[in-house]
Amino acid sequence: MDVEENLESLLYEWRRVYIERTGRSKELFERACRVFPGGVTYVLRFFDPYPLYVVRGRGSRVWDADGNEYIDFWMGHGAHVLGHSPDFVVEAVGKVAKMGTHLGFENPYAVEYAEFLTGVLPGVEMLRFTMSGTEANMYALRLARAYTRRSYVVKVEGGWHGGYDALHTYVRLPGGPESAGLPEEYLKYTIAIPFNNLNAAEDVLKKYPVAAIIVEPVIGGGGCIPPEEGYLKGLRQLADEHGALLIFDEVITGFRLALGGAQEFFNVKADIAVYGKAVGGGYPGAGAFGGRAEVMELLNHLKYPDPRSRAYHGGTFVGNPINAVAGYTLVKYLAEHRSLYDHANALWEWARRELDKACEDHNRLCWATGVGTMTGIHFTKTRPKTYADVRDLRWSKVIEKALHFYMRINSVLYMDEKTPRLLPALNQPIEEVKIFIELFEKFLEQATKKS
Ligand code: PMP
Repeated sequence: MDVEENLESLLYEWRRVYIERTGRSKELFERACRVFPGGVTYVLRFFDPYPLYVVRGRGSRVWDADGNEYIDFWMGHGAHVLGHSPDFVVEAVGKVAKMGTHLGFENPYAVEYAEFLTGVLPGVEMLRFTMSGTEANMYALRLARAYTRRSYVVKVEGGWHGGYDALHTYVRLPGGPESAGLPEEYLKYTIAIPFNNLNAAEDVLKKYPVAAIIVEPVIGGGGCIPPEEGYLKGLRQLADEHGALLIFDEVITGFRLALGGAQEFFNVKADIAVYGKAVGGGYPGAGAFGGRAEVMELLNHLKYPDPRSRAYHGGTFVGNPINAVAGYTLVKYLAEHRSLYDHANALWEWARRELDKACEDHNRLCWATGVGTMTGIHFTKTRPKTYADVRDLRWSKVIEKALHFYMRINSVLYMDEKTPRLLPALNQPIEEVKIFIELFEKFLEQATKKS
C-alpha cells in the first residue's frame, strides 16, 4: 500500500472517531448552518466534516461543547501570546470596564498604552489604533500612498493582510480577485512578487512608481516561511533607492518573534509597522499601525486642516479602554519578562528540528519551517521557500487533512486542515510540545506503514 492509500483508510477511521467524540459540535453545526452561511463565523475555522464548537479556553488548553479538552497550538489565531485569558489581564480589564467599556472620547488609557508602545517598538514614534489587522493594513497603505503621492503597492505572493480590497489578491495562486464581488479594477495598482526574490522586487520598483512594499516578515497564513538571509534588508534598501515605503505587516510577528516583533528580531526597520492580534491583549478589536513621526504626521488634522490634504483614519471603537488596558497590561508583562522570548524561540527551534528529523526518517515526506514560535509543516517534495513552493510542490491531496484529523482525535489543535501551522503561546509547556512531536512521529509511522 502506498501512503495515499494508507491515509484513505486511516481517514475513514479517524473521521468516525471524531464524529463519535463531538456530538454536540455536530448539533451546533446543524443549528449554525441555519444562521451562519456555511455554519461558521469565519471560513478559516471550518474543518471537515464540521468544526469544533469551543466553549472555554484557559492557558494552553481549550474545551469543546462535549467537554473534550485539547492542547491548543492555534491560540486564538496567534493572538494569545501568553495563552488564553491570563488572570492578570482579565483582572485589569475587569477594573477598567467598570469605568466604561467604550467611552467615545479621548481617554488616558489609550495615551498611556501608546506611550509605552512607542518606547518598545522599533521605529514606531507615533501610532494609531484600529480594530483589526485588516483595518490597520488598509489605513497603513492609505497613509503610504498619501505620503509618497503614488498609487502602486507591491505585495508578496501568499501574503495575507486581511480582506481589504487592494491587498486581497495573490493570497493564493494564480493571482486575481480572491473574492466574488471584488472588481479587477480595484487591484489595478497591486503588483505581486514572489517572496525571497529581491530581483523580482527590483524589477517592479524600476518599472512602476510604487508607494509601498508590504510584506509579512515571515509569511504566516501562507505556511510560516522564513525570509532568507538578507532578504528583508534588501527590501529595505530597494525601497529607499526607489522612494517607496516599506510596510511590515507584523500582525503575527509583532510581540511574538520578539517584543519589538520582526523589526527587532531581524534588525530591519520598516517605515510603517502594522500590528493586530496580541496588540489588543487578547481582547477583540486588536490593531494598530505606526512608524516614523514624519510619515504618521500626515494623519494630523492640526497640521493639515483640509481633510483632503491628510490621510484619514478613524472608527467608533478605536482607542477604547478595554483594548488599551488589555494590551498595555499584556505588553508590559512581556517587556518585564523578555527571557520568555529566548526560551520560547529556542524551544520551537528545537521542536522544528525534531519534526524535520521525523520527516527525514519517513522518506522525507515533509519539512518543518518557521521562525521563533511560528511553525509550519509542509508535505512538499522539497523545502518550500516561497508560497508557490508551498502550493506547487505538494505531493498529496489528503495528507494535510489526515494529519489534522489525527491531531484532533488525539486532543491537539492547530490550523488549518490545508496548510498546517502552529502559532503557540510563548509559555506553552514543553510537555505539550513533546506530545505534538510524538503524535507527529506516530502519524508518519502509520502513514508510511507497509501492509
Ligand atoms: N495580517 C496578517 C499577517 C494576519 O495574519 C492577519 C490575520 N490572520 C491579518 C493581517 C488580518 O487581521 P484581522 O484578522 O485582525 O483583520
